[in-house]
Amino acid sequence: MKKSVLCVETGEVFDSLREAGTWIGHDYPRKDNRGGSFAGSHISHAVNLPNRTAGGFHWRLVQTHQNQKEFLLNTAPADEVLEFMFPETKESVITQRTVSHKTRNKPLYTMLKELYNYTCQVEGCNETEVEVAHIYKHSLPDSVDNETNTWCLCRNHHRAYDANRMIFNPALNGRFIRYDVFNKVYEIGRIIYDEKHVIDVKWIKKSRDFHDSKK
Ligand SMILES: [Zn+2]
Repeated sequence: MKKSVLCVETGEVFDSLREAGTWIGHDYPRKDNRGGSFAGSHISHAVNLPNRTAGGFHWRLVQTHQNQKEFLLNTAPADEVLEFMFPETKESVITQRTVSHKTRNKPLYTMLKELYNYTCQVEGCNETEVEVAHIYKHSLPDSVDNETNTWCLCRNHHRAYDANRMIFNPALNGRFIRYDVFNKVYEIGRIIYDEKHVIDVKWIKKSRDFHDSKK
């Protein structure tokens, strides 16, 4: 098993004694080019000894994971990760906003997101911050809140669609043109569907009519 070591003075973590040795290797020049391993063995004798140095630094043995930060990022609870990365903000208080929404169909939302493995339905968009987007505005009286009127979209595609900057041709099976805020064509793309998810194309038409009626 590889030993990762921390340089106390610099805070740097090295994947192996050899790597750490290479870092301080210039202090251990050897003709056979094995300065790194040689210095590494020097470090191994200094590890965890408060009074012993190698290459002028003190050394500690750390987790045998690639590095401590990566280990922490992947295993620790989010608040601990944030405290580790931003220790100075530990005392700050985050106030939570409570927002009331029109009652929505929660299980459907979860099911739809799970069906797409929390990935945006736009082809090639691998965003995983997904939301359930209504094809025809949910707030309109003749709209419905079910899977025939919903897409699983990332926030960007959802915003663009709601702002009428993502225009679908109902006859073209999910193909759309997306415009940026300056009204320039930004993306020509396609929504792809899981076979278990069937939408009703009339919602796309109704949505089109709705936006056209506002012009
Ligand atoms: Zn997306």
